Amino acid sequence: MSFLDYVLEKPSYGWTDTSGALSVPSSRQLLSEFFSRLNVVKCKKNWLSFFSWFKVAALLPFFLVFMFQFFSWQFFVAGFLYSMVLMGTHGTIWHHRYCTHQAYTFKNKFWRFITRNLSLKIIPEEIYVISHHVHHAKSDQPGDPYNASGGFLYCFLADVNHQPIARTLNEKDYDRVVRLMAHTGVKSNNYQQYQKWGSVAGPLQTILHWVLNWGFWYGAFYMIGGHGLACALFGGAFFWAVGVRTFNYEGHAKGEADKQRDGIDYNRQDNSINQLWPGYVAGEWHNNHHLFPSSARSGFLPYQLDLAWCYIRFLKGIGGVSSYKDSRKQFLERYHTPFVEKKQKEAGQPVEMYTERT
Ligand SMILES: [Zn+2]
Ligand SMILES: [Zn+2]
Repeated sequence: MSFLDYVLEKPSYGWTDTSGALSVPSSRQLLSEFFSRLNVVKCKKNWLSFFSWFKVAALLPFFLVFMFQFFSWQFFVAGFLYSMVLMGTHGTIWHHRYCTHQAYTFKNKFWRFITRNLSLKIIPEEIYVISHHVHHAKSDQPGDPYNASGGFLYCFLADVNHQPIARTLNEKDYDRVVRLMAHTGVKSNNYQQYQKWGSVAGPLQTILHWVLNWGFWYGAFYMIGGHGLACALFGGAFFWAVGVRTFNYEGHAKGEADKQRDGIDYNRQDNSINQLWPGYVAGEWHNNHHLFPSSARSGFLPYQLDLAWCYIRFLKGIGGVSSYKDSRKQFLERYHTPFVEKKQKEAGQPVEMYTERT
């Protein structure tokens, strides 16, 4: 069994059924697993998942105060853009391309700190990072923590039911987990602390980071637009925090295998698809990403806007990022140009090479 087969805590319904196929739990099983794994009274190793959902719940009152006390259309639009574009793109820049895939490197800790705290802190790094490595190794196979064939709820509750790291790792395996997180700046528990808390992150530092991060941003938003703007943006973050949990289901075509389109979705190893909305607001061209996971850019074609890439390029320009990988050239050479040439031949047109955009 390889490391990625057991690094995540197996749900009570297992990854596979007795025949080795994906175990598809009922909604009742999924909900029961969810609440059992959020129960910090029963087991304190549930703290990180509990804390993650506590933060989501804590954002709702801001939305309600905004709606009933401070509503204005300008702030509503600001909240929408903040949540969809800024938080969405930040998730791609930080959790996805940096923390998981190490698609680029920071010049120093200062720029890492700025990038990490560029938006409201909600998702714990380790829950995203370790499980995302498993997702790439087992996309749409049993063991994929957000296997879209498991259904909407299987993916929506995945951060609690399928993504936390296993609690019974031996010291050597726990070290491997720590190494996968080492570049992120999350201070890691030692093995004894891991055995107590079941996590890489320690509760004290995590809570302190949350208080400072939210406190800073509330203060900054208040200075710009008073409580009205602060509540609108925090309230918008609530919808992002809930909505982002639907992405993995949608990004793998809801588990349907026939949704990939010629000339758009070149990767056929899994069910991932490129979608306009996650692409435009967050740079998540997911089919492209599965072709070149370690590329700091996923928007390869001219219409595929990639704001996360714009940020990484911008930081490179001002000296905050020291290096990045960009797989656009390989994408065009291996996939897009041969496709375009084939189409042109079939249509009897003279073959024109795809010209590099400058
Ligand atoms: Zn995927
Ligand atoms: Zn990825």
